[in-house]
Amino acid sequence: PPARRVCILGATGSIGRSTMEVVAHLRKVDPEYRWQVWAASGHRNLDTLAEVALSADPVPRRLVASCAQTHARVSGNGESPLARFSGEILAGPDALVRVATDPEIDVLVAAIVGRAGLESTLAAVQEGKRVALANKETLVVAGPIVRQAAQKSGAELLPVDSEHSALFQCLGDRPDDVEKLILTASGGPFRDWSTEQMRQASVQSALNHPTWDMGAKITIDSATMMNKALEIIEARWLFDVPAETIEVVVHPQSIVHSLVEFRDHSVISQWSPPDMRLPIQYALTYPRRLPGVAKRWNRQQPCQLDMLPADRERFPALDLGFEVARVGGTAGAVVNAANEVAVGLFLDGQIRFTDIVKSCHQVLQHHQFDASPTLADLVQIDQWARRETLRFADGL
Ligand code: NDP
Ligand code: MG
Repeated sequence: PPARRVCILGATGSIGRSTMEVVAHLRKVDPEYRWQVWAASGHRNLDTLAEVALSADPVPRRLVASCAQTHARVSGNGESPLARFSGEILAGPDALVRVATDPEIDVLVAAIVGRAGLESTLAAVQEGKRVALANKETLVVAGPIVRQAAQKSGAELLPVDSEHSALFQCLGDRPDDVEKLILTASGGPFRDWSTEQMRQASVQSALNHPTWDMGAKITIDSATMMNKALEIIEARWLFDVPAETIEVVVHPQSIVHSLVEFRDHSVISQWSPPDMRLPIQYALTYPRRLPGVAKRWNRQQPCQLDMLPADRERFPALDLGFEVARVGGTAGAVVNAANEVAVGLFLDGQIRFTDIVKSCHQVLQHHQFDASPTLADLVQIDQWARRETLRFADGL
């Protein structure tokens, strides 16, 4: 069978490691292709990158150490387990674009966290690759640019984010009959906390997600519900719908991953136990469905599904998300940058939990809005928003 070569950027992370498992599984169950991880990247955790790569079968051909400072260590002495890797090792952020656009790869799994994933994801889209998109921040920052690039190159942009994968699976072939796209939100660890309790929330309690095991940044985003805000913006660009078409409901069990309401008021949802390997596998094999590696619904256990209205007062991130989805332009880049910086400050113990969304609001309000920015404009305003967030946090 023909090879299916996968490039995983962010292979040392939560999504990256799950993707390694999915590819190993597909290699066993898919008679149509010979799946393999062709290239993989890590940033700071290069020992993990080496471990992950050396335990894959076959071992990837190329590794990227995207953190430029590690260049010396990568190419130098034999201390790092990377020294046992006999393939090619590239270093620095530019190398991400090089492997993402390599003619030898068929699929890019964009699993870097944050705006750092933008250039490599966009480059693969421009190259016409299939892109399995976990890195939602890319669409938040530059949704229209990525969409246009995909239209021009014919690239397939397939969601890995579980909600968007669910919407994609529910939409079927009648997208014109859609009334609402309804994103589910677990509500995170503070679903029932008062604003005052959240003001006092510790880093530890915010990192303690009830239903998903994920990287630190998205776990904090889930607690503030900025994650849902980013997902509203992601849905706006991924499905090319106005912000008004999107809604959010709270579903604490994280089993129903999202729902589509049609014109006749029929609602179709997708459900499965919370396990990212399912949307990852579907993005890789679409439109085919192959034997799964993800957890299976156990019918011997009682299963309860709650759907609750979202509380926009206690979680002001939601209105922020709708606002940014509505105005577009530079707003996404600004809010995303402010959020990345504010989450970092919170994790470092420098600001309060409730200051994260407050900072995003503040910086959004003070920026010079541009309705149709170029990529260069977005990169610049991202840097401005990072500085502005630090300045605002300093004054808190
Ligand atoms: P992790 O923090 O677990 O992993 C992040 C990955 O990105 C790591 O490989 C890390 O490398 C790499 N990385 C970090 N900073 C940079 C940088 N500046 N340049 C290049 N690479 C970098 O995150 P997750 O796997 O949880 O999330 C990845 C993306 O997927 C995010 O956009 C998130 O929103 C999205 N997502 C995640 C879900 C989940 O279940 N985890 C669900 C839905 C979406 P290293 O570790 O070596 O430093
Ligand atoms: Mg999600």
